[in-house]
Formats: sequence, C-alpha cells, structure tokens
Amino acid sequence: MDMKCLRCLESWDISYIREDILPDVGPCNLWKAAAKAPKPTHSRGFTFSAPGPYIESCPACPPVVDDSVKDESAIIRAIADLMGDDIDGFCSEIEDMEALGMFSEE
Ligand SMILES: [Zn+2]
Repeated sequence: MDMKCLRCLESWDISYIREDILPDVGPCNLWKAAAKAPKPTHSRGFTFSAPGPYIESCPACPPVVDDSVKDESAIIRAIADLMGDDIDGFCSEIEDMEALGMFSEE
C-alpha cells in the first residue's frame, strides 16, 4: 500500500515509511510520535504532519510544485482531513480513487 506526498503526490510504500523513515517499533516509536506531534516531524528528507502522520513533503518534491498537481493535491488533502489518524483508511481510499482513474498517473 502506498501513501502519497500531499505536496507533490509522489507515492511511497507505507511499509518503507513505517520501517525506515518513521520506525513504528520499540519505545521510541517515531510513527506514533509524529501522529501526535504539535509541530511537523522531519526525518530523512521527509516532513510529516499530525494526525496521520501524513507526508507534507518528501525527497521527490520539486522546489516549485506544478499547477497541474495542485487540484489533485487539494483533493488528497481533503481526504486526509476526513480520515484523521486513519492512515490505512487514507491509503486505501486513495488507491480506490486511483483504480477508478480519478487521478492522472505519472
Ligand atoms: Zn513530495
């Protein structure tokens, strides 16, 4: 399952994020911390925001985001607002919408 960068819409494998970028294990659980952090969490070129945590920006983000991305980005951000901390629900919702051809494939 993939989670999308809310800024540039790049897809990232959720297990890569949970294992390598925000490890979801042990007493120092970065994933849970990021989901509760009042400020954005930065890790290895990514910026995450609570709840979720959602990817606010990623290493694939261009300096300036193309206008064509902004409409889809607004839709995805609205879904993120609805789903709150249900990141799995968010990812599967996005996958369903992609399967229906609602987003342009890159
Ligand atoms: Zn990005």
